[in-house]
Order: sequence, then C-alpha cells, then structure tokens
Amino acid sequence: MRVGYGYDLHRLAPGRDLWLGGIRIDYDRGLVGHSDADVLVHAVADALLGAAALGDIGQHFPEHDGRWRDLKGSALMERVMGLIAEKKFKPVNVDCVIHAEKPKLSQYRDAIRKSIADMARLPAESVNVKFKTNEGLDAVGRGEAISASAVALLSDA
Ligand code: MG
Repeated sequence: MRVGYGYDLHRLAPGRDLWLGGIRIDYDRGLVGHSDADVLVHAVADALLGAAALGDIGQHFPEHDGRWRDLKGSALMERVMGLIAEKKFKPVNVDCVIHAEKPKLSQYRDAIRKSIADMARLPAESVNVKFKTNEGLDAVGRGEAISASAVALLSDA
C-alpha cells in the first residue's frame, strides 16, 4: 500500500468555464490555466503520482510543451492512470477537498464523486469529495481562487 498527497490552486476569472473533477459547474467565472485548470483533477492526479513516486503533473505535462494546452482533466487522468499502471499500481481509494468560497458546490457532490471515480477506475464508494469555504480569508476566501487537496491510496495491481 502506498499513500500520496496532492494540492493545487488556480485563479478565478471571467470568460472561462469552471471545471471541477471533470464536471462543468454553472458559474460566471472559471479557473485560469494552461490546461482546463481543473484544480480537483490536478490535485487527485498529483496524489496518484505521489503515491507511485512518479513526481508531479508539472513534470509529465510541462506548460512549455504545446501538446498539453487546454488538456482536459479526463485526458490528463487517463495518462496518469497509464503511468501508475506501468509501475504495477492501482488506486484503492481517493479522498479530496475543494476549497471554494463560491459557488455553492453541494449540488454537484454526487456528479463530481462519480466523475473522479470513473477517471480513477474505482467504484463511487471508494471516492470521497468534501467542500470547504475559507471563512472569507485569503484569496480563496475572497473568491479570487479555488484550491483542492487530495490523498490517494494505491495497492499492487
Ligand atoms: Mg493545476
């Protein structure tokens, strides 16, 4: 058994779609980034890579490499799953937190959970998604950014 941790943060800005865990969220702003800026997928992917001691998504999908521009979360996760499978690992469970002041996300909980489970080839019962505000403090609390953190457990495939 191997545990890994991942964290990510992206800025919110108008004129962008908001993607969290592969689900499009209805909001007037979205996360800014080279890829689709899906902060939850990035945290989960880094947790999976971390558990396999495979570095981080910045190494595997460098921004200077134009191939990864607008990379979808689902495509990124497919590649990460391939990398951990090469190391003969498979996910056991994933637990994650989305830190967002706005929008309210509880109505998306089941969809995000199912989406992350599908990407990690797990049953929904093996994925947990939590939502936290930052009590109005810092960039997340002011609604200028959304961050996510995740832990993942891997076992031998
Ligand atoms: Mg990111």
